[in-house]
Amino acid sequence: MSKKVLVLGEISNQKLRNVSFEAIGAARTIARDGEVLAVLLGNSVQAFADELIHYGADRVITVEHENLKHYTSDGYSQALLEIIDGENPEGIVFAHTALGKDLAPRIASKIDSGLVSDVTDIEVDGDNILFTRPIYSGKAFEKKIITDGISFVTIRPNNITAFEKSEARTGEIVPKQIEINNLRTIIKDIIQKKSEGVDLSEAKIVVAGGRGVKSKEGFDKLYEFADVLGAAVGASRGACDAGYCDYSLQIGQTGKVVTPDLYIAVGISGAIQHLAGMSNSKKIVAINKDADSNIFNVADYGIVGDLFEVLPKLTEEIRKIKVGV
Ligand SMILES: Cc1cc2nc3c(=O)[nH]c(=O)nc-3n(C[C@H](O)[C@H](O)[C@H](O)COP(=O)(O)OP(=O)(O)OC[C@H]3O[C@@H](n4cnc5c(N)ncnc54)[C@H](O)[C@@H]3O)c2cc1C
Repeated sequence: MSKKVLVLGEISNQKLRNVSFEAIGAARTIARDGEVLAVLLGNSVQAFADELIHYGADRVITVEHENLKHYTSDGYSQALLEIIDGENPEGIVFAHTALGKDLAPRIASKIDSGLVSDVTDIEVDGDNILFTRPIYSGKAFEKKIITDGISFVTIRPNNITAFEKSEARTGEIVPKQIEINNLRTIIKDIIQKKSEGVDLSEAKIVVAGGRGVKSKEGFDKLYEFADVLGAAVGASRGACDAGYCDYSLQIGQTGKVVTPDLYIAVGISGAIQHLAGMSNSKKIVAINKDADSNIFNVADYGIVGDLFEVLPKLTEEIRKIKVGV
C-alpha cells in the first residue's frame, strides 16, 4: 500500500546533514509508490529545499520563523504538529541524532503513535516493511513490523542508503506560515567549540584513541593521522576520563554511537561499554600492544604493537599514497 511519508530535514553548519538524504531513502522505501514530503524548519531554510528534491523528496514544506532559528523542542514540535495535522502522513522519518532523539518521542506521544527508534535497516517483505534495530547495546538485533497507525521511525546515521541524487528531479516547494509562540526556552546564541573537523556521528572513517594514547600530546598524533585519512577523531571513556580529550568525543554506551565504514581503535582495550558504540562499524582495525586485548575479538584487522611506533609509520605511508610518492 502506498503511503505519504513525512521526513524532517536537518541543517547543521549551513549544510543539510547527510542523514537527511538517508531519511529520504528510508521514506521512499516506506512510501512505496506514495509521496515523500520533506519539512525544513528554521529562519532561513528556503535555499536547501531544492537539494531535498534532488535526493528524492516529492514536495518540501518550509517554515521560516525567528523562533525556529535554533532548535527547541517547543518550537519544532509546534510547527511539525501543525503540518502533521494538515497532511495526515502515514509514515514519519527523523534522523536518530541528538535533535531526532529529543523530538521524535515528544511528537509520537502528542499524536498518540508508536515509534521505532534507531533503525539500521529497512526491508520490504511482501506487504510488510521490516525495521531492524539494535538491542542490548548492539549485542543483538530485532526486526519490527508496524501493524497499525503511523510508521514512525528514527534512522541511525550511516546505515540506510540515500536515494540516488538527480539534479534533474523536480518537485514542489511550499512555504508555510506558522506562528511559533509559547517557547519555554529562548536560545539567544550557540557558541560552537573550535571545529574538530569531520562530524563524528556521520564520518565514514573514525580514528578513536584510548587510555593507551597516554596524553593530550598523544591525541595530537591521532589528529595528525586522522587528518591524512580524512577521518573524525573519537575516544574511549578511559581517554576522556584521563583528560586527554573532550567528552564530546566519547564513543560507547554512554557516549556516541557510530557506524562508519572504517573504525580504527588505537590503544583501546575493547570494554563492553565501548563496543556498544562502535561494534557495528563496517570494518574495524585495532592497534594494541596486548595481543589478548578484547578489541581484537571484534576487529577485522589487528596490529599488535606499540601505537607510538605504528601510528607515525601509518601516517607517513598513507601520506605517501595520497601524494603519490
Ligand atoms: C556505566 C558505564 C558506562 C560506560 N560507558 C562507556 C562508554 O560509553 N565508552 C567507553 O569507551 N567506555 C565506557 N565505560 C568504561 C569502560 O568500562 C572502560 O573502562 C573504558 O572503555 C576503558 O577505556 P580504554 O580502553 O581506553 O582503557 P583501558 O581499558 O585502560 O585500555 C587501554 C588499552 O591500551 C593498550 N595500550 C597501552 N599502551 C599502549 C601502547 N603504547 N600501544 C598500543 N596499545 C597500548 C592497552 O593494552 C589496553 O588494551 C563505561 C563504564 C561504565 C561502568
